[in-house]
Amino acid sequence: MDYDSALTASLQRLHDEGRYRTFIDIERRQGQYPHAVWTRPDGTQKDITVWCGNDYLGMGQNPVVLAAMHEALDATGAGSGGTRNISGTTVYHKRLEAEIADLHRTEAALVFTSAYIANDATLSTLRTIFPGLIIYSDALNHASIIEGVRRGGGEKRIFRHNDVAHLRELLAADDPAAPKLIAFESIYSMDGDFGPIREICDLADEFGALTYLDEVHAVGMYGPRGAGVAERDGQMRRLDIINGTLAKAYGVFGGYIAASAKMVDAVRSYAPGFIFTTSLPPAVAAGAAASVRLLKTAQHLRDAHQAQARILKARLKAMGLPIIDHGSHIVPVHVGNPVHCKMMSDMLLENHGIYVQPINFPTVPRGTERLRFTPSPVHGPQDVDRLVRAMDELWSQCALNRAEAVA
Ligand SMILES: *Cc1c(COP(=O)(O)O)cnc(C)c1O
Repeated sequence: MDYDSALTASLQRLHDEGRYRTFIDIERRQGQYPHAVWTRPDGTQKDITVWCGNDYLGMGQNPVVLAAMHEALDATGAGSGGTRNISGTTVYHKRLEAEIADLHRTEAALVFTSAYIANDATLSTLRTIFPGLIIYSDALNHASIIEGVRRGGGEKRIFRHNDVAHLRELLAADDPAAPKLIAFESIYSMDGDFGPIREICDLADEFGALTYLDEVHAVGMYGPRGAGVAERDGQMRRLDIINGTLAKAYGVFGGYIAASAKMVDAVRSYAPGFIFTTSLPPAVAAGAAASVRLLKTAQHLRDAHQAQARILKARLKAMGLPIIDHGSHIVPVHVGNPVHCKMMSDMLLENHGIYVQPINFPTVPRGTERLRFTPSPVHGPQDVDRLVRAMDELWSQCALNRAEAVA
């Protein structure tokens, strides 16, 4: 095997298909987010505003969160020094899990390295716990869910995105006695649309299936205590397992599941992705716990976040730009061409100091390439003005159609 040629060929394939990823080198300035500094490949720098971050509420620079992290860092040191089983469980991890269980009103919670790992490790392990488990998975589920469903190798059924009738057909076609689990998301982050939580829970009741809900793009931001869309809609108690991240709206790092004590105990005991890896640094656990706790009573931040998204959508729509609007906080602008999409992103960055990553295939289907903005309460009125002016100018420059806003 000529390993070197194989590497070259694999990378060339990505270049040929226009899907080779280049990372933009940015440095946040604590206290000034979403303002940051971009370092170009030649080493020169430019001040920019981040418009595609997942730190939706600016919690990554919240003084209470930082103080909790400093305190734990000074008290205990850098790393945890072990897996959860072997010397890596601290009071900070236990407090964080208690904070999360309280958030979701579940008996227990389990913290993982990330929500990606939580999805992958939990879903693949449930196959061990429930032999013969059939997993029903929404067609647009996140890569971490797909990976977890695939690993473990059992039966899986993919239902058309948010199509409850299709899900019902699939459930009805299987052995009523077989163990079943429905895996879906509360907010799909590429279009910003909501999953039909109530309808899916109804189906789960009817067919005796477990429910697994990824609330990664909702925790901190929806519901009266920030527990997500299921909390907002009064459905939280109907879910068997809720997955969330501590790295997006909570602004820190890590992921989790919340469930019954027995479910958590089983996953804790069987999931290799939980067992055989070092636990979070205590300072990270402390910061995450502070953030979860703080957002339970920070309705003003959630309101400001939603208001900001409504303002940006209204202003872009008023210029006739094709916004995809499902009423969530995510603001995708349809471009529909990968070359235009990349070019607009480059021009926004270089000419206007606005950073928004182009979203191209395979993250979204071909022909639906888009710029995806994530407004936040820390974006000021001037940031919004500059973005709207820049988009207006660019749209004219690139001679793109102005369309009616799409559903
Ligand atoms: C980002 C994301 C994850 C992974 O979360 P991390 O904590 O960053 O690993 C899982 N699910 C969905 C839907 C996501 O968008």
